[in-house]
Amino acid sequence: MKQNIAILGSTGSIGTQSLEVVDKLGLQVSALTAANNIALLEQQARKYKPALAVVFREDKARELKIALADTSVRVLSGMEGLIEAATLPQAELVLNAVVGMVGLQPTIAAANAKKDIALANKETLVAGGDLVTDAVRDNGVRLLPVDSEHSAIFQCLQGMPDKRVLKKLILTASGGPFFGKTVDELRDVTVEQALNHPNWSMGAKITIDSASMMNKGLEIIEAGRLFDVGGDDIDVVVHRESIIHSLVEFTDHSVLAQLGVPDMRIPIQYAITYPMRCESPVAELDLAQIGRLSFFEPDYDTFLCLRACKKAFSMGGAATAIANGANEEANALFRQGKIKFLDIGELVMGAVDSIPNFAPACVQDVLNADAQARAYVLSRLNG
Ligand code: MG
Repeated sequence: MKQNIAILGSTGSIGTQSLEVVDKLGLQVSALTAANNIALLEQQARKYKPALAVVFREDKARELKIALADTSVRVLSGMEGLIEAATLPQAELVLNAVVGMVGLQPTIAAANAKKDIALANKETLVAGGDLVTDAVRDNGVRLLPVDSEHSAIFQCLQGMPDKRVLKKLILTASGGPFFGKTVDELRDVTVEQALNHPNWSMGAKITIDSASMMNKGLEIIEAGRLFDVGGDDIDVVVHRESIIHSLVEFTDHSVLAQLGVPDMRIPIQYAITYPMRCESPVAELDLAQIGRLSFFEPDYDTFLCLRACKKAFSMGGAATAIANGANEEANALFRQGKIKFLDIGELVMGAVDSIPNFAPACVQDVLNADAQARAYVLSRLNG
């Protein structure tokens, strides 16, 4: 098992749960990073004594540096700091739990520094595509999924004798707070309603992505890239209870699933202890108490984000970075009250349909596609 871990995005929902797992497993922490929550990062740095603490925002990093002046923790900022955190010599595993595209360059840097990567930052794979999977393959490192659905699939695939026996991946989706709603019913929903997820407690960006089903769209692409499966062989089924975390179907139509209570500490811990399993503080699954599990078709007409992601994935190239970039911008604008909920799907689909696709050859190409998508969303807002 890995003994030393760097956690990027340590103050977020996945980051704090990862530190609970770290406590249980008794691991050392080499680096911790945050976007701007320096109060929590300072507490974490005092407790875990990493060599490095990084705050993305430079002004906040200066504040943290003063706050930690009595410790030996080095403080850095910006992308440079994140990349340093992802490549420290002592780290055996880099857990990337930052939110959004900002995670791309640290992921590639970690692979190039021969680090195994536990990936909770799905935007990295969606936007970076082959650049990420090539870096992982060329450096002979492991990309271990932390996303609950992808961890489920990864677990179901252990012991698969040959890739040719895999028929399809089946991603489960809770359906979020707006399952079963019509376009008319969604026209005037509020940020508060969208933030009210029935099963999972997560950060704001991903909770809105769950309400719009963008999260599941991103996960289709993420699954395709992680497991090298085309979009036609990835199904989505709405499963309201979030007990089955995903399934795989083999050529003989046997289907394997991974189940558990919805608690991210299971997939986080599995990524850290893989291929071992350890005891966990997560509650045992009591199926009789749950009683029944339900399944439904997803609604691709109402939840346009899901359709846009499927389309972008089939287009390939920069299209997935464009879908992701448009969504990152639209998601933030919705949370700021500047656009309506249904605008998110319209904008993501609009960006995929109207921005010319191309094949990114380097990280800068991906960043350019992302910037074009964001500019498209802002131009629609102003125009
Ligand atoms: Mg997920």
